Amino acid sequence: MAGYGFIGLGIMGKAMAANLVQAGFEVRVWNRSPQKCAPLVELGAVQAASPREVVEACPVTFAMLADPAAAHDVCFGENGVLAGMGPGKAYVDMSTVAPETAASIGEAITARGGRFLEAPVSGSKKPAEDGTLIILAAGDASLFEEAAPAFAKMGKQSFYLGAAGNGARMKLVVNMVMGGMMTIFAEGLALAERGGLNPDQLLEVLAGGAVANPMFALKGPNMLGGNFEAHFPLKHMQKDMRLAVALGDELDQPLFTAAATNESFKRARQMGLGEQDFSAVFRAIHAAG
Ligand code: NAP
Repeated sequence: MAGYGFIGLGIMGKAMAANLVQAGFEVRVWNRSPQKCAPLVELGAVQAASPREVVEACPVTFAMLADPAAAHDVCFGENGVLAGMGPGKAYVDMSTVAPETAASIGEAITARGGRFLEAPVSGSKKPAEDGTLIILAAGDASLFEEAAPAFAKMGKQSFYLGAAGNGARMKLVVNMVMGGMMTIFAEGLALAERGGLNPDQLLEVLAGGAVANPMFALKGPNMLGGNFEAHFPLKHMQKDMRLAVALGDELDQPLFTAAATNESFKRARQMGLGEQDFSAVFRAIHAAG
């Protein structure tokens, strides 16, 4: 089957690339820390020595990188994506970045004759493993069509949102809502405990009412049990809150709750919780009491 490139094999990228390999596509992979390629190679992927090598070998290359700085480095760095880019090549960046990062990468790719799509995702480690992510694509419409067979293996739904930048904007809005929900949930658990209530009962009460949602159901028991193994690292949640607040600044949209939520995640990061799951904001809220 047609070959795809995949750059960035962290929590999300590893699972997404594995789904492409297991679907029978030929996949060429690169990761900054090369040892993370090993499980993919075991499944049948080919390891490349640089992003440039991936792009030179594959008509369509996907990337799933930490943040705007990582996305920028991989595209513009020495032996980066841009160095291998040209007519007939395409790049789909699925990292969560600022709209201006997506736009500048897109401009550079198209200036080299390539095509660009940004496609950040909603959904965490488990949906990435199950191939049930929600894909928020924007940019080159023909590439959206062409990437559909790969998107179908990585996600359960794909949206085309128009011009490059809209994918990042949509993703930041979604994660801003999620970060706010997590913080108020953690405050509720902390307040219940401090008030002498059984927090497990709070989970049951919430689960039965109008604010029930899969995130509370999934994360709540782990939070109460002290399990903060990272599915979505807290450092990335804080990055998304920071980028959402910056988008609010740029658009002159007041974001009272998002700004406060960003401070909660900043505090948690400062406490050394950045590598833990974003639900570890609960620990920062507890410690503040
Ligand atoms: P992760 O486990 O921290 O992986 C980050 C990846 O970026 C790794 O492959 C890392 O390489 C690479 N990287 C970081 N800095 C780099 C640099 N300067 N140059 C080259 N590569 C660099 O993060 P993740 O959870 O997979 O998330 C990836 C992206 O998806 C983020 O934008 C995140 O916000 C977004 N996202 C995550 C989730 C989730 O639930 N986890 C859900 C939706 C969206 P090394 O292995 O060498 O460090």
